[in-house]
Amino acid sequence: MSLLPSCVEVSRLLSEARDAGRPLGSHARLHLWVCEVCRRLKAQFDLLGRAASRCHEKGPGLSDDAKARLKKTLESGPGLP
Ligand SMILES: [Zn+2]
Repeated sequence: MSLLPSCVEVSRLLSEARDAGRPLGSHARLHLWVCEVCRRLKAQFDLLGRAASRCHEKGPGLSDDAKARLKKTLESGPGLP
């Protein structure tokens, strides 16, 4: 068993941390330090989070159905081979 979580685990942890509004754990942060794919995924999460915040301030935002589809797409992972 590796000390570092897999890319799939990190994508799940990123989603959970964002949803819960809590910081990412140390093992996941270490994974991000060495994995460019997951760093890009985190950047996408951060970008979407900022965009979602702005949409919420200016209007009704995404429907619950659209949010669920977006979340499902993001949770499917970074598309590793
Ligand atoms: Zn990774």
